[in-house]
Order: sequence, then C-alpha cells, then structure tokens
Amino acid sequence: MHMDAHEYLDFEDVLIKPRRSPINSRQEVDLTRSFKTKSGFVLNGVGVMAANMDSVGTFSMAKALAQEKMFTALHKFYTLEQWVAFAKENPQVLPYVFATIGSSQAELEKLERILEAIPVLTNICIDIANGYSAHFLPHIAKVREKFPNKVLMAGNVVGAEMSEALVQAGADIVKVGIGPGSVCTTRKMTGVGVPQFSAIVECAQAAHALGGLVCGDGGCACVGDIAKALAGGADFVMLGGMLAGHAESEAKIVEKEGKAYALFYGMSSFTAMQEHHGGVRSYRASEGKEVYLPFRGAVASSLQEILGGLRSTCAYVGAINLEELPKRAIFIRVRRQINPIYNHLEAPHGS
Ligand code: 5GP
Repeated sequence: MHMDAHEYLDFEDVLIKPRRSPINSRQEVDLTRSFKTKSGFVLNGVGVMAANMDSVGTFSMAKALAQEKMFTALHKFYTLEQWVAFAKENPQVLPYVFATIGSSQAELEKLERILEAIPVLTNICIDIANGYSAHFLPHIAKVREKFPNKVLMAGNVVGAEMSEALVQAGADIVKVGIGPGSVCTTRKMTGVGVPQFSAIVECAQAAHALGGLVCGDGGCACVGDIAKALAGGADFVMLGGMLAGHAESEAKIVEKEGKAYALFYGMSSFTAMQEHHGGVRSYRASEGKEVYLPFRGAVASSLQEILGGLRSTCAYVGAINLEELPKRAIFIRVRRQINPIYNHLEAPHGS
C-alpha cells in the first residue's frame, strides 16, 4: 500500500481570482480558437463538447451545438445509413462532430465504413471506461495507423503517466476523467477515481509538454465548473448532464403530476446495458445510474448561458480569448464558494 498525501482538488475546492483587466466588455471576448493537433489537423471552434452518451451525443444536439461552433462526440450507436443521411443533409455540422468507437473490432470496422462513406469527417473519439486496460494503447496505435490524418481523441485516464502514453501512442486529445460524471457510480462501486480539477491540471501539463491536447470529461455541474476546467488547462470540456434533458436529447419523456421529465442514464447503467447489450453481463456490475431530469426544452438557451458565463470569466481575469484563460487564471483554494441560503426558494426565470 502506498498513500499519496498530496491534496487533490475538485471544482468546488477552488475559485478563480479576478484580475485587473484590459477588457471593457464581455463582447470583446472571443470564445472560438484554433486547436492545432499533433496529427497536423487544425480544429476551429469553442472548446465545449457534448458527451458521447445516448441522450447527449445525438445528431440533433450536434446541429444545435454546431450553430455556436461547439463540438459533439456522437454516440456510437448510429448506423452507417443514419450517418450517411446526416452527412448529406448537414455538411456544415461535420467539422464539429467526432465519431465514437470503443475497443471492439466490430466498432472499428463500422468506423472504417463510415469514414470511407464520409471522407470529410475528420474527428474520431476512442472511448473506453478504463483507459488503463492493457489493450487500450495498442488499440489507439492501431487506429492511428489506419487513419494517420484524422484527429484522435482517446480516454479516459486521470494522470500524467497515461496522458503521455496516450499521446505517444497517437492520440491528439487525451480525454480525462474517472468517476466524476453526474450519472456515474464508479467511485461508489469501486472506490476508484481522482478529483476532476486536479486530474485536468496534471493531464494537461503532461499532454501539452508532448504537443497533445486535453478534454476534461465529466463533473461539470455549472458554467463556473466549465470555466475552471478550461482555466486549469483543459482545451475542451465534455458535458453530459448539463446538456441532457433538452429537446435535442432525443430521450424518453415521461409525465409526472403534469410535469415532463426526460430519462437520462449513464452509459454503464443497467438501462444502457439492457438497451445496447441485452443486459448486464454476469462478471460485471453496473457503474452508472438512471435519473429523471425536468424537461428543459430547446438547448439553445442553455448554450447561451454557457457562452455568456465563459465570456464573463474571461472578462474577470482579462483573457481576450479562451486560449489566454489558463495563462491569466490564478486559482485560490476555498472551503465555501456558493451561498446556499435561498437555494430551496428559487423562482423560475422571468417570474
Ligand atoms: P457529466 O457531464 O454528466 O458529469 O459527465 C459525463 C461523462 O460521464 C461522460 O462523458 C462519461 O465519461 C461519463 N459517464 C457516462 N456514463 C457513465 C457511466 O455509466 N458510468 C461512468 N463511470 N461514467 C459515465
């Protein structure tokens, strides 16, 4: 047994200190940036990304996010025919989407067919729950060999050592996060995980040193958390719960006492495994949960909140764009950050 006594921090443990700023208005802040990847490809957009989950990484979500130049990792369950139809009708969205695969040969073969049919598709997301599995690095190397010019995002991991290994194996973007997700029960079921803010800081330093980029995946519960992730060094931030429950989620809607709720579930939950794999296999337990979220309508207003909040963060610290944010950010360690006194008395917007 070894105990690492270093203090690992989560979003709620830190705040960003305001700084004297040359920016007069948040309108001056530009949230788009260019992401130069190791493979040579340059992505352009806002570093916020919808997660490759059933009711988040949907074609509808991708269309809405692309309008704001945000990215979407599409879930891996769309068929080749669905992909082809989507690409034909929405060519302007393609630069903002990632096609997701796991570690199976069948998924890789389907990806090959999708990329053959849609050659302008440039971005791939290789997502496995445990990026520490022995087969993961050779799998990334194999995908890189097959697609030398595509952008590869791969994860999930939470430390410097594996971030370096992923970049060396061919990943352009390291996806960071074990256990922080809103519908994830990994920490409860296994006792494993690393607080997400520290995980992002450590992985970003390691990946950046080798020319790689980082996507902080999971754990953002409010716009301030996205700002902290980006200021901590994440080039992209992936959102599940914050984008779930909207019209674009294509989720099952149920009505309870006259109110509409959208079903949202973890990709390792019992529901997801039943939906996609015919049940939970005997040797494993589910590591995700199911929740009903109050239905929130179109995602556009939530996107405006995210973009507005991020512009304001940049204005507070004097960052003219998101690339400058980590350079300007000074974090402080806090023990309380939000005044909860009226939390249970909130009135709806516009009351
Ligand atoms: P959120 O933004 O909701 O906090 O986190 C989204 C992330 O949670 C996803 O991108 C994915 O990495 C992770 N996730 C999604 N479903 C599950 C699950 O069932 N189990 C675990 N351990 N993580 C999940």
